[in-house]
Amino acid sequence: KNVLITGGTGFIGKYLTRLLILNNFSVSIFSRSIKHNTADISYFRWDIANHFIEEEAVLKADYIIHLAGEGIADQRWTAKRKESIVQSREKSIQLIYDVLKKHNKKLEAFVSASGVGIYGAVNGSEICTENTLAVNDFLGSTCQKWEAAADTIASLGIRTVKIRTGLVLGKDEGFLKKLAPIFKYRLGSALGSGKQYMPWIHIDDLCSIYLEAIKNNEMSGAYNAAINDNTNNEIFSITLAKCYGYSLWLPKVPAFLIQMVLGEMALIILAGRRVSSEKIEKTGFQFQFNNLELALEDCIGK
Ligand code: NDP
Repeated sequence: KNVLITGGTGFIGKYLTRLLILNNFSVSIFSRSIKHNTADISYFRWDIANHFIEEEAVLKADYIIHLAGEGIADQRWTAKRKESIVQSREKSIQLIYDVLKKHNKKLEAFVSASGVGIYGAVNGSEICTENTLAVNDFLGSTCQKWEAAADTIASLGIRTVKIRTGLVLGKDEGFLKKLAPIFKYRLGSALGSGKQYMPWIHIDDLCSIYLEAIKNNEMSGAYNAAINDNTNNEIFSITLAKCYGYSLWLPKVPAFLIQMVLGEMALIILAGRRVSSEKIEKTGFQFQFNNLELALEDCIGK
């Protein structure tokens, strides 16, 4: 069977591609740039702003996993940047929808990334389940639009799954890639109050959830993909420092400084929420990494 991954060249996509190939799937990838096919991967081009899509990729797919989107924390959130963050996720699904509809093509499943940010950048101890109401701050409304676009695929009678992802921990990639050098040189510190929750997931577990989502016909709708523990920014920072063999010694970075540097995007760092993992675990899925220290040690190669 063939799995088409949009944004398959990114952090999660690269890990997921390897896992799918190990599980005997053939993989196609939508990318904005030209890439050469390998023995295992076929690359196809698309250009969302210009409504260009190589239809063949969609027509040969049995499953589609939608990961593509402009990096949420890569640049300051100007009005233009916010628009590209939303459009790269929403309009890309629209392009796929149009191809499926035009050719009356069925898929076995459409699985889209989403984020725990749907529950809003709120600080509090409520544990959000998939039924918790979404919030309308920028991240919350982005995730709602992203998921609403995925639901248009469901309206074609295709099983659709949305993976509300927490902070993904991986080797030399994503968030840890930015933090690791700071902590390695003993310059890490907690941010803001440090009390903001940080739901996290190890990359191997996240990729296993995507695999489960395509294989398990019972899965449909939204699933939180994050460990439900009490990790907040302070615990995360203390644990990461411990993995590098020291105790945090620098004071917390005050929230106003972070806001000055990052503007509205500071929300990603200064606010958080706890999320429940009960729904995904009820499918029989078991996390391989549910201990933060072990997950971090694995990622930083201890
Ligand atoms: P990356 O930024 O590493 O990869 C995303 C990919 O999307 C890129 O490789 C790029 O592929 C493609 N892309 C970027 N901009 C556009 C655009 N304008 N049009 C079309 N394609 C585009 O992200 P991750 O792998 O970390 O994340 C994958 C998804 O999961 C994202 O949607 C992200 O928001 C979500 N997520 C990630 C979390 C994390 O901690 N990593 C947490 C929660 C959600 P190319 O350059 O080849 O076109």
